[in-house]
Amino acid sequence: MASAHIIDGKALALTIRKALSTEIARYRLRPGLATILVGDNPASKIYVAHKRKAAAQVGIKSCHYQLLAHTSEAELLNLIADLNQRADIHGILIQLPLPAHLSESKLISALNPDKDVDGFHPLNLGYLMREEPKLVACTPLGIMQLINSVGYQLSGKHAVIIGRSNIVGKPLMHLLLQADATVTICHVKTNNLASITRMADLIISATGQRHLINDSHIQKGAFVIDVGITRDQTGTIVGDVDFDKVSKLASYITPVPGGVGPLTIAMLLKNTLDIFKRGQQ
Ligand code: NAD
Repeated sequence: MASAHIIDGKALALTIRKALSTEIARYRLRPGLATILVGDNPASKIYVAHKRKAAAQVGIKSCHYQLLAHTSEAELLNLIADLNQRADIHGILIQLPLPAHLSESKLISALNPDKDVDGFHPLNLGYLMREEPKLVACTPLGIMQLINSVGYQLSGKHAVIIGRSNIVGKPLMHLLLQADATVTICHVKTNNLASITRMADLIISATGQRHLINDSHIQKGAFVIDVGITRDQTGTIVGDVDFDKVSKLASYITPVPGGVGPLTIAMLLKNTLDIFKRGQQ
């Protein structure tokens, strides 16, 4: 039996999406989101389809570019240059990972930073680091929504993030620091992970390692957020956290699926609307 409060990410995301939909309906024009998918990675296809469906539901027009796996960097750079110029496209999303012959860094840097709906452009990462956030990565933004939704006070708390990627761990570190938490980042080379996570008031795990976090990793009453997504042998989606064990000790916990994932999509829609609104002023 779980004693933790299970945060319903789906319900929270739905509330946010309804509010976005109401706001978008007030405008004569529609926000536009371009999605670019190179190759046919099945998981990426599903993610892009979910994002486009969610966009359509709130009144965002999405425009999808499905490109062959061997598309050259030059072709992609041309497409990005074209989308950067288009007045009807407010946000541009390049679905990662890209095939190995393409440089993610080069292509993301080619985006107009004002249309960088994922917040991955170096300028947007720099603004976040300077505490002048403009466009911020959707998953860390969604995690902050989950924390705020239960009225949790971050000031002075010790947050331990597991995972140091540019799309989750590092931007989240800045958002948590800006909310006055004390932040520790752990990663694959961290020695004795459990001794660090046991000191945490808040644990955010984003590794993609199934059930990496169990009851030996947390202190009683910790707030546990599970970002990880992997599939077990039966194809079921599972997180980084052993939910059954950890939920007996935690104060709050997010499930997988139905926790962070829906918020990531809701924040993508919010970022698209925010960019659109800047052009309407
Ligand atoms: P990544 O591969 O770029 O980074 C994984 C991180 O985990 C690395 O920093 C690595 O050092 C760390 N790590 C790996 N094994 C570890 C271990 N045994 N102990 C401690 N740290 C370890 O991955 P990412 O893109 O940051 O994504 C992480 C996970 O989150 C994946 O499962 C991904 O599918 C999921 N994800 C979910 C959402 C969502 O919306 N729910 C969004 C983004 C990523």
